[in-house]
Amino acid sequence: MNGVSCQPLLDRLTFALVKTGVISDLSKRKTELEKIKFCLGVEVTYSDVKINVQEEIQNLLDALYDKCEDHSKSEALAMKAKNQGSKAYLKKKDKEALNCFSESICLAPAESSVLPLALANRSAVLYQMRRYKEALQDMEWAEGACYPAALRHKLLVRRCRCYLSMGDIKKAREVLEACNNHIHLVPLEAKDKYEMEVADLKQKIENHVPTSSTITSQENLQQPSLYGGENETVKYITNAFEMKENDKYGRHIVAVEEVSKGSEVFVEKPYAAILLPEHHKTHCHSCFSRLLTSFPCSGCRDAIFCNEECRRASRLWHQYECGILHILSSVGIAHLALRILLITGWKLHCYIREEVVEGKVAGFGEKGVYNGPDLIDRYRAVFHLLPHFNSCLLEDQLQYCLAAILLATAISDKTNFIKENMDENGEKTDLDVPHLASAVMRHIAQLVSNAHAITQLMPSDSGGHSRVEQIKQIRVASAIYPTASMMNHSCKPNIINSFYKDVLVIRTTEDIKPGDQVSNCYGPHYCRQTREERQEALKQQYFFTCKCEPCTQPKYMKSEASWSGFYCENCGGASSWMGNEDPGGCNTENNEGVLLCLQCHRVQRPSAHLVYTCSRVNSLHESGEEAIRKGNLPDAVSLLRNAIQIGSKVYLPENQYFLRVRDTLARALADSGDYENCTLELQECLQFMEQRYGPESIELAHEFLKYSEVLELAAAVNDKLQDELRMVKKRINDIFTLNYGPQWKIYLSTCAVK
Ligand SMILES: [Zn+2]
Ligand SMILES: [Zn+2]
Ligand SMILES: [Zn+2]
Ligand SMILES: [Zn+2]
Repeated sequence: MNGVSCQPLLDRLTFALVKTGVISDLSKRKTELEKIKFCLGVEVTYSDVKINVQEEIQNLLDALYDKCEDHSKSEALAMKAKNQGSKAYLKKKDKEALNCFSESICLAPAESSVLPLALANRSAVLYQMRRYKEALQDMEWAEGACYPAALRHKLLVRRCRCYLSMGDIKKAREVLEACNNHIHLVPLEAKDKYEMEVADLKQKIENHVPTSSTITSQENLQQPSLYGGENETVKYITNAFEMKENDKYGRHIVAVEEVSKGSEVFVEKPYAAILLPEHHKTHCHSCFSRLLTSFPCSGCRDAIFCNEECRRASRLWHQYECGILHILSSVGIAHLALRILLITGWKLHCYIREEVVEGKVAGFGEKGVYNGPDLIDRYRAVFHLLPHFNSCLLEDQLQYCLAAILLATAISDKTNFIKENMDENGEKTDLDVPHLASAVMRHIAQLVSNAHAITQLMPSDSGGHSRVEQIKQIRVASAIYPTASMMNHSCKPNIINSFYKDVLVIRTTEDIKPGDQVSNCYGPHYCRQTREERQEALKQQYFFTCKCEPCTQPKYMKSEASWSGFYCENCGGASSWMGNEDPGGCNTENNEGVLLCLQCHRVQRPSAHLVYTCSRVNSLHESGEEAIRKGNLPDAVSLLRNAIQIGSKVYLPENQYFLRVRDTLARALADSGDYENCTLELQECLQFMEQRYGPESIELAHEFLKYSEVLELAAAVNDKLQDELRMVKKRINDIFTLNYGPQWKIYLSTCAVK
């Protein structure tokens, strides 16, 4: 949108410093400050062009400052958006009108006359859309923003209607009385209509029949609560756990009591969290809730909130970010590093930086509490997270330095942060661009391996199965949770993360015994990636070699191998495809690779017979899919049955590609109304999904969802299936609740289970 982005410059500078060899000097600088000062001083000539790092960054920033206008308020644009909204509203395009009015509200300067009008207009759309609560909120804001007195009667009537529609008769009566008292203030030309409307409302209120409403919203959900109460020395975790430290595991979390599966064991607010730029227009800048109506920052158009409370909560840091958010948010995780410092303030940062930690486990405060409720204790926990700076690639280190310099310079150029945080005595004058940048650097180095992605659930359709509802998780923000960061990684974790707004809620996924280490999965999971892929990823991002159970025990490698497995042509055992690319099995001929039998240990190239069979299955599968697209279902079913019959002689049943063929057959059967056979096919798939992903996995739950939809249709004509259906729905409920917490129910309407 703004046309100027930071990454190209960071890449160009990195490239030049690598090519000229200057980058190797960076590794000789030990402290963050030395590294930053080194970068600030670099001047090289590459391809006859002189490059001065500091100047280049300043030039880029100047270009970005020129774009600040595009991110500030504009009365003219606000008016334009409002008029567009009104047009859409007249055409009954509610969604479009809503978007236009929201846009107008974001663009309107705080004191402008457009703001209350756009708010009032949006309340009318929201009323149409039956979003009464949001409509009421908009009307309240409109009145707070000096809505014209001559129009006020319109809002009174609408408020009364909202309460009536919500079934809140007490409130509706109150507003009705206000309507009656207001009559003498209504302009003459509107009086007749107004009186009619009020009379109508009066009658409706009197005739009102109460109904119970059963809408579940995020607010109505039960707040997460810690199993067995909160730990007194390590905040945000259950009493049943404690933090330990030793040479082998570093700081880590261990169970001291038995904790059963599904217990909430961490409930943690982040120290700092940033909304990802792609969600700036759709999510609250402070709590990350998805917005239907927006309440913008009064100073810029980029920060949007749920309400005044969220707006106020962000003051602490947004006072500095306002107006330059587009610059800060363009450098990824470095923005979060800066945010940590904006929240902390320079004085506290310096105090903690110089604090002596001898004789204590790092991060624990004077009272022996880790991540305690005061800012100082919370920041101490953040400050002592391990920075993995020197393990990073030199190119990455350089990029972090450059990003830190860029952010520190922008803060210095455009905000009062440095001025406000200066020591009054002028004794300590170490708050300047290099010092601020080096502090940002330390946090970047910690965040590289300690930041969490905050995810949010979204409804999604399942692609081919357009009728089946599914839930997907999208990444909305990056955050730092110092207590949760104390868990070590395992590719087979015994807990799972979920989010309630920005609060991290962690549940156990198995029964945990006293003495067990509590481990988190940093990303690579044993059901989803092979050992090789996991080890590679962990090395790159987290700088260690994983020695968890699935990474060391042969039985896990065997089951991994079957994902791309065939029957061994020598002994009939399971042999696995060792090649690059998706083994699938459909392209064994052109794919460089071999089959390794796990039983007789023979290694061989796929035989001509295997290659032929695979390509046959593949072409039958493709024809089957084509027939489904064309609606030729009997052909599709017979093609796919044929593919499965031929394929079952060479593919192991858990082969991923072969399961996809099965799934396509199930779809063809469902589309042709043969629900009974479809359920049989899906039952087979379920069995293998459970084997691979485990009984509590989200993959299995999604397969169960498909199954339940078909089962529901089959059960309509066959009563015997009702019990099975109930069982399946309970299973779906249990798995989703374990993985996502109770909020999943908001996103799937058909699966509400009593
Ligand atoms: Zn919010
Ligand atoms: Zn702002
Ligand atoms: Zn592992
Ligand atoms: Zn064999």
